[in-house]
Amino acid sequence: MNIKSLRGMHDLLPADSSAWQQLEGRLRELMQAYGYSEMRTPLLERTDLFCRSIGDATDIVEKEMYAFPDRHGESIALRPENTASCVRAALQHGLMRQGAQRIWYMGPMFRYERPQKGRYRQFHQVGAEVYGVAGAIVEVELMLLTARLWRALGISDSIRLEINTLGTDADRTAYREKLIQYFSDNSEQLDEDSQRRLGSNPLRILDSKNPEMQALIEAAPKLRDNLGDEATQHFEQLQEGLSAAGVEFSINPRLVRGLDYYSHTVFEWVTDHLGSQGTVCAGGRYDGLVTQLGGPETPAVGWAMGIERLLVLLEELVGAAESVPAHAYLVAMGDAAQTAALGMSERLRDAVPNLRLTNNVSGGNAKAQFKKADRSGAAVALVVGEHELSDGSFSIKPLRGDGEQQTLDFAQTVNYLTVLTEKD
Ligand code: ATP
Ligand code: MG
Repeated sequence: MNIKSLRGMHDLLPADSSAWQQLEGRLRELMQAYGYSEMRTPLLERTDLFCRSIGDATDIVEKEMYAFPDRHGESIALRPENTASCVRAALQHGLMRQGAQRIWYMGPMFRYERPQKGRYRQFHQVGAEVYGVAGAIVEVELMLLTARLWRALGISDSIRLEINTLGTDADRTAYREKLIQYFSDNSEQLDEDSQRRLGSNPLRILDSKNPEMQALIEAAPKLRDNLGDEATQHFEQLQEGLSAAGVEFSINPRLVRGLDYYSHTVFEWVTDHLGSQGTVCAGGRYDGLVTQLGGPETPAVGWAMGIERLLVLLEELVGAAESVPAHAYLVAMGDAAQTAALGMSERLRDAVPNLRLTNNVSGGNAKAQFKKADRSGAAVALVVGEHELSDGSFSIKPLRGDGEQQTLDFAQTVNYLTVLTEKD
């Protein structure tokens, strides 16, 4: 029997890789443009890192984590997200003592969820994190960065920003009591999940998607009515900052996010085009996390974006990404030409730095080689036969549109190909 990939874990095939590469390239440029530096952490960490940061009573830790004992019985886990790892790394390498840090990451994450469109067991996130900066201004920067991405991708009309505040730890502790009281008084209306959460993580009940719970949730006490001055000011500063920067947003009082480490600002970029998997990018402030992981008091804020969801959205709204074909395909006629062609191609690559040149390396007659040249999508075929070998020339045959075949010496060929690459 042939071995297949694991459920919910997908291969990226060559035909689909340009969409990823184009998006990844754009993200790198964007992060650079805002002064964010990349961080790469291991895919495996001690399980405890995620339990201590994300929280024991969260979906991720309760049921979604790929955690298992290693060969010495230590529990390790495939990272379900990257915020905890980044904080761990920043602490381990003393970055928290070096002033404000703007970092970003991109890579695979793992969650044992029920696979469906926009939800996989290995998926990819790009994220941005800022350490050492309190106040809402940096939150606005993080949102502006993403807003710029939506514009660059041509999807800003289909994606909107929702914000909320979770207040300070003290606000949340007081509010938690009120919620527990309210939901306990109405416990006969709670579904099974919510009953479980009542003891462990009552805020998450607000996040329930169960239609039968909606009226109860709607009437629940609001955190916004229970905020102290500090949180109110912070939230106002955020709204003023967003308005001043021209970013549209709406306040969603039910936005609580699924991870324990958030405080003050939380936000999501959502779309109506992906069904119930409508959150493309999500984040918030997590000032308590650094101390929770044993570090010094350090304000922190960030977001993470699901790359697969964004690509599904892009394909739906903008269409499939075009692949990037070769400029030229080299056809080598005869054994001597086959042997010499690779060396000649190297000289062309030296002289035309951006050249995308594919060599025929498997022989064959003219007809077979030209067929491959055509299928490669290249703009021209470069032909090397006995005649070309003798004087170091190339015959150039356009494969798209009209144009006659012509034979050019090396310098002319370089000019020809340079012009071709400049059309990119
Ligand atoms: P959801 O409510 O959809 O489960 P989440 O709150 O678990 O999302 P986060 O942990 O905040 O998601 O992750 C940030 C982003 O990563 C999500 O908004 C989404 O775009 C993406 N994401 C999360 N889980 C998956 C998954 N299993 N497959 C694909 N993308 C995912
Ligand atoms: Mg989830």
